[in-house]
Amino acid sequence: MVPTTRANAVIPPRKNAWPWKLNSAGAIAQNEAVRANKYLGRAQWRRWSEYHRRSCAETKIHFVKLLGYAALGSQVTVVELFDQIVVGADVEAVGILQAASEEQGVLIHTGTKVTQITATKAALTLTCEGEFEGPIKADAIIQAVGRRANGALVEVDAAGISVDGSSVITVDKSCRTVQPHIFAIGDVTGNPILAHRATHQGHVAAEVASGHAAALDTDLIPSVAYTSPELAWVGMTAAQAKQAGRAHKTTSFPWAASGRNLSSGGGNGLTKLVYDPDTLQILGVTLVGTNAGELLAELVLAMELGATIQDVALTVHAHPTLSETVAFAAERALGTLTDL
Ligand SMILES: Cc1cc2nc3c(=O)[nH]c(=O)nc-3n(C[C@H](O)[C@H](O)[C@H](O)COP(=O)(O)OP(=O)(O)OC[C@H]3O[C@@H](n4cnc5c(N)ncnc54)[C@H](O)[C@@H]3O)c2cc1C
Repeated sequence: MVPTTRANAVIPPRKNAWPWKLNSAGAIAQNEAVRANKYLGRAQWRRWSEYHRRSCAETKIHFVKLLGYAALGSQVTVVELFDQIVVGADVEAVGILQAASEEQGVLIHTGTKVTQITATKAALTLTCEGEFEGPIKADAIIQAVGRRANGALVEVDAAGISVDGSSVITVDKSCRTVQPHIFAIGDVTGNPILAHRATHQGHVAAEVASGHAAALDTDLIPSVAYTSPELAWVGMTAAQAKQAGRAHKTTSFPWAASGRNLSSGGGNGLTKLVYDPDTLQILGVTLVGTNAGELLAELVLAMELGATIQDVALTVHAHPTLSETVAFAAERALGTLTDL
């Protein structure tokens, strides 16, 4: 017996029965087939669909949520203007995430610009230019082009505080604005606009306002894309080190060679370190794979303490764990690796 999959499922088209529609060839349109294939009852589907549409309208959501919709059975297409998704992250690690996303059925068009969106009762149609040319029909569109600070909107300049051209309030490492008794924290103070940075800035501002010495190094703010697999990074990528004219080398360990990853059914993954070839100090880290965001903490701490790859390689990591990939990557750079 041939197992029923999305590709071969035979779904009887119910004439005039919402939400299924027939295309000009008399077949169920692809996105309708995906819905039908989930065998949702009409009421169930409507509730889910309403939730889907409402959340799209209210929030600019990034790649993470798009993958969530794919997991729920939606046909998701990502259109990205730049030549890679998760712009700014390590290109090799992003390649692993992209391949995994495509395996989950997500269509990804990089180097492509959306030039127009037209809406009819039947569908939304995106016109695209670039590496992908042509229309894309969709039920819903999530615009996730980015968020902006709103410093200029509240006329902080009236209090003598400076705001740059991007509406970002200028602060120093102690979160002081140019007015020493006024502090600013969070997204309004610029990148990276992440919750844990805002929280730590809040602590710093409170300490400094109470007369204590405190500061936050915003170069060491970890980032995690809660995708499947997760993508996590901190510090410089190799491309950023190159752009900054910083001497650097990279070392990595593929998760295909991790016993823990293989035995727990993990997919492709990578642990990659960027380091200074003279001092061996770690300059940046990127991890992609199951729970990569959890593994990152060790390396954020290592970087906070100014650790070298030697420090990491000489730290005993339990076997078999995913954390071993961190030590193995470091050992590989030192030529002491016995596990590859
Ligand atoms: C969809 C989405 C997913 C995200 N996921 C993550 C994640 O996984 N991890 C992570 O670290 N970060 C995530 N972020 C970012 C995170 O939410 C922000 O970095 C964080 O909330 C910043 O905190 P904040 O206090 O600076 O700003 P906000 O949380 O935006 O708080 C600012 C508050 O000020 C209010 N406000 C604005 N203007 C005025 C005014 N003139 N007068 C009075 N009040 C005003 C706003 O209404 C808001 O309530 C995500 C953001 C979005 C949108």
